[in-house]
Amino acid sequence: MTLCVYNYLSRQVEKFQPIQPGFVGMYVCGPTVYGDSHIGHAKAYITFDILHRYLEYLGYKVRYVQNLTDVGHLLDSGEDRIARGVQRDRLEPMEVVERYARHYFRDMDLLNIIRPDISPRASGHLPEQIELAQTLIEKGYAYESNGNVYFSVADWPTYGKLSRRKIDELEEGARLETSAEKRDPRDFAVWRAATSEHLMQWNSPWGPGFPGWHAECTVMARKYLGLPFDIHGGGLENIFPHNESEIAQCEAAYGQEFARYWILNNMVTVDGSKMGKSLGNSITIHQAITGDHARLSQGYPPLVIRFFVLSSHYRQNTDFTDDALQSAAKGYERLLNTVSLVRQQLVKASQSDEAVNPDFAAIIEQRKTQFIEAMDNDFNTPQALAALFDFTRAVNTLLNSGQAISSSTLNAIDETYRILGGDILGLMPAEIVGTSSSPGLEEDLLRLLVDLRAQARKNKDYATSDTIRDRLAEIGVVLEDRPDGTIWKFS
Ligand SMILES: [Zn+2]
Repeated sequence: MTLCVYNYLSRQVEKFQPIQPGFVGMYVCGPTVYGDSHIGHAKAYITFDILHRYLEYLGYKVRYVQNLTDVGHLLDSGEDRIARGVQRDRLEPMEVVERYARHYFRDMDLLNIIRPDISPRASGHLPEQIELAQTLIEKGYAYESNGNVYFSVADWPTYGKLSRRKIDELEEGARLETSAEKRDPRDFAVWRAATSEHLMQWNSPWGPGFPGWHAECTVMARKYLGLPFDIHGGGLENIFPHNESEIAQCEAAYGQEFARYWILNNMVTVDGSKMGKSLGNSITIHQAITGDHARLSQGYPPLVIRFFVLSSHYRQNTDFTDDALQSAAKGYERLLNTVSLVRQQLVKASQSDEAVNPDFAAIIEQRKTQFIEAMDNDFNTPQALAALFDFTRAVNTLLNSGQAISSSTLNAIDETYRILGGDILGLMPAEIVGTSSSPGLEEDLLRLLVDLRAQARKNKDYATSDTIRDRLAEIGVVLEDRPDGTIWKFS
């Protein structure tokens, strides 16, 4: 089995071969931190979390770099997005950035997204961006005009190779500059001159200014991953001009290939329409969780949202509707019910040396193969979930058969869920949660105590969490904290 990925650069499914054996460098365009992240961001970063997790499952050491844009990303009006946040929230620019960076990580943590290894900020890489503009000017690929530095598209013949736009068809990209400043309307800014009232500006060889949006990704990817690196990820909507310009700047300035594989996720629509503030259908991750939005009948647990995102392929469009979320919630509950029943049986089962039931060992192997084949096929999560549900049906049949199930068989089933559903898909909750099919009051009460203890620990109320653990130990219930949750045993 080999991992194959769809590479936007070649528009083909290709065998994945990292530049350095055993190591994968991955750069993903991060959010502009001037407001709460929406469900489109949820899809994007769940997508790259799946890549991250699966590559690690395959044994690669992954360095995952995802930037935070805190300067230079302009609205269509020409206003800097951070400056918009400053006006709206009446804060200093870096307070806006800090506030929404924290919200971003809060939302990502809830969605069980493993944090990137490095989260560099554009504002922390000004010298590198100025150096990029200087190098481009020296090599004749950029020119200065009224304190701005523009990349000269006509001088770089491979411009358009990712988005496959013909250079002659390119429309005027930016709305800001008069054509008097640019030699060619298609040229894009590597550096922009700032007026005196512009909030965030830095000195440069061309006077006070700030970097063009595309510059940060070029310099930060190069700085932390080297050239070329393996995977560049992002949203399909940013293929042009953002990603295209990242490549052109890098390859023109440094004479080296930028990224090998371009993996881009498709968008999220709401009730069939593109999200837009004016349409009233832009839903933040926070609103999806709390249900505080006119389009939602209720809030959805973060892992239900994650399950919903994984039920379509990342290269497909995902339509976010209240109905679709409700059925995702039901599907997810079915999965968890079975996992929960297996774990309860495991607690009660006496340990034995009996081998795993051979018929069931074969089922586990078969479903695992089906799951891995799906993931190897360009991270096909809907097919991987189908394999997990086929497995769950077999587990339910076994649980309902009335026959005694050995602890080794139960352990093998539990481990399959931990690896496929937990490590790779990130869908197993941190704590074992109660389900409607809980077998009895005793289990329900224990679960309640485990949940209360988890809550206390989350609140850093260690006195309470320790009391719960110690009192349970006194009555013969031992709690065991595992990486993916707490289980209990009768001593
Ligand atoms: Zn970027």
